[in-house]
Amino acid sequence: MKTVSEAIKTVLEHINPCGTEEVSIFDSAGRVLAEDVYSNRDHPPYDVSAMDGYAVRSEDIKDASKEHPAVLRIVEDIMAGSMPQKTIQTGEAARIMTGAPVPQGADTVVRVEDTDTDGTVVKIFTPSSRGTDIRRKGENLREGETVLHRGMDIKPAEVGILAMVKKKTVRVGRKPVVAVLSTGDELEGLDEEFDPLKIPDANSYTLMAQLALTGAEPELIGIARDRKDELRDKLLQALKCDAVVVSGGVSVGHHDFVKETIKELGIDMKFWRVAIRPGHPFAFGISQEGTPIFALPGNPVSTLVCFEVFVVPAIRKMLGAKRLFRKAIKVTVGGMVKDKKGRTNFMRVRIENTPKGTVARLTGRQGSGILMNVVGADALLIVPEEYDRLEDGDSAVCQLLCIQSFQERPAVSEV
Ligand code: AMP
Ligand code: MG
Repeated sequence: MKTVSEAIKTVLEHINPCGTEEVSIFDSAGRVLAEDVYSNRDHPPYDVSAMDGYAVRSEDIKDASKEHPAVLRIVEDIMAGSMPQKTIQTGEAARIMTGAPVPQGADTVVRVEDTDTDGTVVKIFTPSSRGTDIRRKGENLREGETVLHRGMDIKPAEVGILAMVKKKTVRVGRKPVVAVLSTGDELEGLDEEFDPLKIPDANSYTLMAQLALTGAEPELIGIARDRKDELRDKLLQALKCDAVVVSGGVSVGHHDFVKETIKELGIDMKFWRVAIRPGHPFAFGISQEGTPIFALPGNPVSTLVCFEVFVVPAIRKMLGAKRLFRKAIKVTVGGMVKDKKGRTNFMRVRIENTPKGTVARLTGRQGSGILMNVVGADALLIVPEEYDRLEDGDSAVCQLLCIQSFQERPAVSEV
């Protein structure tokens, strides 16, 4: 049986990027950049003032104080967007607005709060060293430099940079279309009539949500009953997509036909099991046409966790992303965590900042059918194969569960 690391490696060896497409800047957030982006300008284009105040020569005000202010003649008023006409000489100052160009001759800006004026002259009450409150030309962007790199995730700041360098359209990784298929006679489809004796299909919807939030385009195939012909038809339909995730039917149950059907379709399975908890019957293969297929165990928590661990990096690679994996954070374990040796366990935890540090606490009972233990969870606490417990206060690593995470109190209240 492969370890989790070996399985991730094998999966990624067989995954290729899905190609690229051009999208409008308006649609670029959440996509993965597929080109390097260069700056067509210096930004700021010249030294600008960071404050409303006076542009002066630092030499002129080096002895200034409240009692003995430096008195300078105002020679100009410089607004944001207008160019200075004068060079500041000894004994002179220019009134300057935030974002306005610093005039020749001046080497510092004194904020208006440290001055007083009658309109003709300005009194400066404090010295100010060279360069104070001046934003240097090109400190944000330098013309000709690569400012965004292929493989980066486009987030709001990246969108802002695209706008700054006038990229109205941008090349991004094409979203893989991923088929979602559930299997099982016991399943009740979302649109089927309520039957208290049936098991509601949750996995299709969990997986669609995970796919969408990972940047893929989910395609719902639906439920295949535990019959070979039905499974075969639905799998063939699913294999037309860029990738397939199928849940259920991969364990060793008598009616678990997924394995058999997969073999009959000539899919080259790279492995059938992984030393992971929850979800060791996780299987992965490649169809004859090169379509990857992820066969996830049916229990809802196993499905979700195996997706996070194995499918997320694969989707990220298909998107052309540089960072393939969910963020890992170091935590302190809160409360004792019991486990069995032999498999890497991904336990559902909430993460809290406490005086003891960043503490991860189990969300509740960890059964692989208890999807409610993932509701409200922030992360998966990793208990390595060789451990059968973690003690309260032990340090450990968590893999964050989702891209966006929120808490009840503002972060500043924790400073
Ligand atoms: P299986 O892997 O098919 O043996 O299923 C293992 C467990 O997961 C069984 O209790 C199934 O009822 C449950 N299960 C399988 N598929 C789904 C699904 N799509 N949604 C919710 N539970 C499921
Ligand atoms: Mg089943």
